[in-house]
Amino acid sequence: MLKRVLRTIIMGPPGSGKGTISERIVKDFDMKHLSSGDVLRSQMLKATSVGIEAKSFIDKGLLVPDDVMVKLMVTELEDLKEDSWLLDGFPRTVPQAEALQNNAPSDLVLNLAVPFEVIIERIQGRWLHAASGRIYHTEFNPPKKPGFDDETGDPLIQRDDDKPATVRARLETYQKLTQPVLDFYRSQGVLEEFVGSYSNEIWPKVHKYLATKKEPMHFTQYG
Ligand code: AMP
Repeated sequence: MLKRVLRTIIMGPPGSGKGTISERIVKDFDMKHLSSGDVLRSQMLKATSVGIEAKSFIDKGLLVPDDVMVKLMVTELEDLKEDSWLLDGFPRTVPQAEALQNNAPSDLVLNLAVPFEVIIERIQGRWLHAASGRIYHTEFNPPKKPGFDDETGDPLIQRDDDKPATVRARLETYQKLTQPVLDFYRSQGVLEEFVGSYSNEIWPKVHKYLATKKEPMHFTQYG
């Protein structure tokens, strides 16, 4: 099936490598990347009425209301009518997904199914030198002396956000919220799941699958 435009959504828990895979998709398949977080941050920066309203929710760690989100994203997508796009961060709820299907139906929903245990293990390996912001990883970028900064010798700390219990809670919240959205797209017959632990493992599967839907512009080798 060769299509002139391909309307795609990418989903995946925090720490699943969604950012990395998204970058590769838009590069190889010549798609426009539209992230709801980026759109909101730009509205806040410009202090538009939507931006000011959104900020009051985001600052409290809440989701922006569905009607505000839908209006914002549908308007953004109108400018991309002639383009293939990759949506990221939207929809986050079933009412958002339903509204999107009514306005700009998606052809494909890609879900990055990285096991939670893998994500927790990866995140909990991160250690920080608080004074400089230097980040280490016990597996990928270990300090010379375990637990201490290479340059100053100060002890390293783990951010609260990176502690296993916090990461697990974040993942569980994501799953609770997202599962109904995934179920919605499964019932529409557009959901495609990619299971794996690392971006370099998942990426070739995503590329192969997308190439059956849209002619790639590039073939980039990674890893
Ligand atoms: P993100 O960069 O995707 O994590 O988005 C930052 C914040 O913007 C989120 O924590 C939410 O408060 C808000 N946000 C982003 N996308 C949505 C959405 N689809 N629905 C509701 N709120 C959203």
